[in-house]
Amino acid sequence: MHEMSIMASILDIVTKTAQGEKAAKVTRIELAIGTRAGVVTDALTFAFEAMSPSTIAAGAELMVIEIPLCYRCPSCGTETTETLDLCLECDRFYEVVRGRELQITSIEIE
Ligand SMILES: [Zn+2]
Repeated sequence: MHEMSIMASILDIVTKTAQGEKAAKVTRIELAIGTRAGVVTDALTFAFEAMSPSTIAAGAELMVIEIPLCYRCPSCGTETTETLDLCLECDRFYEVVRGRELQITSIEIE
């Protein structure tokens, strides 16, 4: 379950950010996770519940926003969320532009 090590890095970043802001505690963490990021949200939530109590993020709310997969044609710029291999206009292969990311989008502190 690599979600444990991912959560360890997230908590590390959150802790450093909170300390940098001289916060007493973290109240909310928001993550954006692509549906193709290779991360299981439930496992990540479990890792957060297991690991956060010993950190400054103890008791914080964890919000996960799922980013659907999105493709873009490198030639004409057409974007689609459908699983197509080739652009209908230009016959070029689509590139994945969203859906593989894993980002901390916001941290709320007190
Ligand atoms: Zn195209």
